[in-house]
Amino acid sequence: MSRLKERLIERIKAQGPLTVAEYMTFCLLDPVDGYYPTRDPLGSDGDFITAPEISQMFGELIGLWALQSWMDMGKPEKVQLVEMGPGRGIMMADMLRAAQLDKDFLKAVNVTLIEASAALEAVQAKTLAAAPCPVSWAPDLASVAAGPIIIVGNEFLDCLPIRQFVQKDRFAGRAGWQERVVSYIDERLQYALSPVPLSDVVQASLPAAQKDAKIDELLEVSPAAAQVLDQIKARFETDKGRALFIDYGPAETEFGDSLQALKRHKKVGVFLDPGNTDLTARVDFAAFIEAAHSVNMRVTQPVEQREFLSKLGLEMRAMALARAVPESKAKIGRQLHRLTDDAEMGALFKAIAVQSGGMELPLGFKSFAEPLA
Ligand code: SAH
Repeated sequence: MSRLKERLIERIKAQGPLTVAEYMTFCLLDPVDGYYPTRDPLGSDGDFITAPEISQMFGELIGLWALQSWMDMGKPEKVQLVEMGPGRGIMMADMLRAAQLDKDFLKAVNVTLIEASAALEAVQAKTLAAAPCPVSWAPDLASVAAGPIIIVGNEFLDCLPIRQFVQKDRFAGRAGWQERVVSYIDERLQYALSPVPLSDVVQASLPAAQKDAKIDELLEVSPAAAQVLDQIKARFETDKGRALFIDYGPAETEFGDSLQALKRHKKVGVFLDPGNTDLTARVDFAAFIEAAHSVNMRVTQPVEQREFLSKLGLEMRAMALARAVPESKAKIGRQLHRLTDDAEMGALFKAIAVQSGGMELPLGFKSFAEPLA
């Protein structure tokens, strides 16, 4: 049994069940036994792989997106380029290589990485040792130097802790939801329902789609994602800015448990080996839009990764790379397939952007989401 599992069982015995969000936070971020702080989880001998790890083209196109965003802001003399959850720093390295297209942009850029894991921070420092602009780390957005800001995050939202609720009394509406918790029963970690009624604040945080739930349906909520949006909004009050997130999840709220644990690219039970398996949950893009609107922030409709990357010029970039290094043609074809095929990342993964007032639609998107009247 992992040391974290022992610790969690002791804690539940002494203090009662954990919310799913608390369980996720311990598993992913505990400084001593948590998943991210104790390893580099990416790559072929790791537990999962992400788009920037699949192909350099991904980060290069995000770099062009950032460059265009800087232009849309009126080419400010200084711009803070922030990445949330940068993993091994590969996306940022590829972004900065593409950014060299415009020397003025590169001169303006100051990179800040927001990373919860000291282990990964060390890897990022290595990857970006020769970066063509200053690179530093910050604990959160509020600590990033003032001025115009461009924020990016790939597979960042999916590892933020979610809470889960089950509808037990449809006729009670929002008050009919009960929280699912992690308990220790019959000598094992397992789910239970908390008998404690939800506070008004928590009831209000459930997305609008909660009203469509049937009895026993499960709904996931990401308070941490809403908090990130609050922080971004606070920043946009004083500075021009734009933020781009790419992640997996449906465009409309779906019911059901999506919390999954991955070990060596295979799904395993979420209670099997806490602290040693990756935990993620799909992103609810409709709820993300609601949360952005609730703080009066301009937000786009999500766009499928296939379409987003294509609009940024993925196919052309692939052809150029294949022409430059003909032996790599088959490999680049495979990368293209993984990033864009509907059965791979093409449709499940989506991009979404929020921005400060007065700016046009960001590159790669089709429309803004309009708040419900
Ligand atoms: N963006 C990278 C890595 C994705 S994995 C890629 O696409 O390859 C998730 C990343 O988010 C890791 O770097 C992890 O350590 C970091 N992370 C997880 N929770 C975080 C939090 N609350 N704050 C900051 N970083 C976090």
